Amino acid sequence: MKEYLEKVYKKSKKDFYKEVEQKLINGEKEFIITANPEILTMGDKDKEFDKILLDENTTIIPDGIGVIKGAKMFGIDLPERITGVELTTELIKLCDKYNKSMYLFGATEEVMNKMKILIEEKYSGVNLIGSQNGYIEDKQAVMEDIKMKRPDVVLVALGVPKQERLIYDNLQYFDKGIFVGVGGSFDVISRSKKRAPKIFIKLNLEWLYRIAFSPSRWKRFYEGNIKYVFKLKKEVKKENQKGRK
Ligand code: UDP
Repeated sequence: MKEYLEKVYKKSKKDFYKEVEQKLINGEKEFIITANPEILTMGDKDKEFDKILLDENTTIIPDGIGVIKGAKMFGIDLPERITGVELTTELIKLCDKYNKSMYLFGATEEVMNKMKILIEEKYSGVNLIGSQNGYIEDKQAVMEDIKMKRPDVVLVALGVPKQERLIYDNLQYFDKGIFVGVGGSFDVISRSKKRAPKIFIKLNLEWLYRIAFSPSRWKRFYEGNIKYVFKLKKEVKKENQKGRK
């Protein structure tokens, strides 16, 4: 866990957006993982996902508050959360500003249609060169279409870890592009699904709100939080013992 937490982006959200903007302007390639405890726990038990997280071309940003708290246990200070939802919005704004091309892949057809309308109406500078809902059987075929079109920004909303694996497996075939697995961001941005009430966000309890209203997340809560804290405590204890020897 410590290895992942050490790798998490340590500057402010503003700095991060500036860097992404520069990369977009320069036509560079970047793969961004918006991390929560669940993703880090996954890396810890799955070798392939571990490789994805530790790859030098992967940037990890602290989406969940648990990542910030976990880092603190190892004395690493992370200034603030940078969420997938906000990053998605920021990338749409940047594409609008610089007339960059974008490909959206994931979520239901209904949500995707709402995304397209939103972009047309509010961010008409975005060059939306492709969109595909996430319930198509052959997901690799969509990646082939994306390869052909070479967009400046590719947002994949298929849920964790499917979206990260798909991006990672194809990344070597791209020479440019900002790639992000954005989870449920399209649902939130298109207003198909509400984000938690502001008070929950403010109190850093958005995760609790999301879990409480979707029982299917209860197992994920266990994996990503209870197990996560347990693992962290174990690692910190080990480190302390090493330190004392
Ligand atoms: N999704 C999809 N295809 C699938 C499974 C899920 O497009 O086969 C979409 C789903 O509609 C939603 C997103 O993936 O928009 C995952 O949302 P979730 O809130 O579960 O994201 P996570 O918590 O994994 O980041």
